[in-house]
Amino acid sequence: MDFHCHLDLYPDPIEVVATTKRECTFVLSVTTTPSAYEKTANLVKDCPNIETGLGLHPELVHQRFGELSLFDKWIHSTDFVGEVGLDGSSRYRSSWENQIQVFTHALKLSDTHGGRILSIHSRQAATEVMNCLEPFKYNNTFILHWFSGTVKELSRAVEIGCWFSVGPLMLRGKKGKSLVSRIPKERILLETDGPFTSINKQSLYPWDANRMCIPELSELWGIDPNKVSSILDENKKILLSKRHSLIN
Ligand code: MN
Repeated sequence: MDFHCHLDLYPDPIEVVATTKRECTFVLSVTTTPSAYEKTANLVKDCPNIETGLGLHPELVHQRFGELSLFDKWIHSTDFVGEVGLDGSSRYRSSWENQIQVFTHALKLSDTHGGRILSIHSRQAATEVMNCLEPFKYNNTFILHWFSGTVKELSRAVEIGCWFSVGPLMLRGKKGKSLVSRIPKERILLETDGPFTSINKQSLYPWDANRMCIPELSELWGIDPNKVSSILDENKKILLSKRHSLIN
């Protein structure tokens, strides 16, 4: 499974989609701009195991703020929203107010449409992200992608009901490992964030998530890989049962 990757941004999306369709149980293909949503969703229209999220990446808000109204146009067509969120890095400080506006709009719209599953970016902004999530937690389901906040922020996220998608790179770093060890096992999902991630100069693909993360989690949790795999499958099943279109 891969709950956060950017299929449209690989050099050869069609080939990646074909392999993903064959090799993966479930993949959430997130978008970085609402104007990319339609084309990206079309890439996987014949793939029942791949869903497309409607997103506006916080790093692009300064250029793409004008596309916000496209959220309203497409929200009806998907159970998934992402990549959305906030980025508190100094590079994106000038767009901070607009980032809050975009993120809040996505959360509110998801809420008023009965709830969506959202893949959320929170780099250097975990507390602010959670302040935004709190009022909209009742209908929506949140997945914090590659969480890198503090232990205290992590506890708050767990309390709010957030899920966490973790990838090979998070599981390789000391801080990432320590955070993962504190997340309840029943809230963990896998991701790659491909094509923006690589190991030994090899880009990560959706089918790398299980292969690379299950051994790491097995070691971290002290349980055998088959058991890890069954916990993750169960988590995926529960998470996907929260899809708005299944409930309503
Ligand atoms: Mn991403």
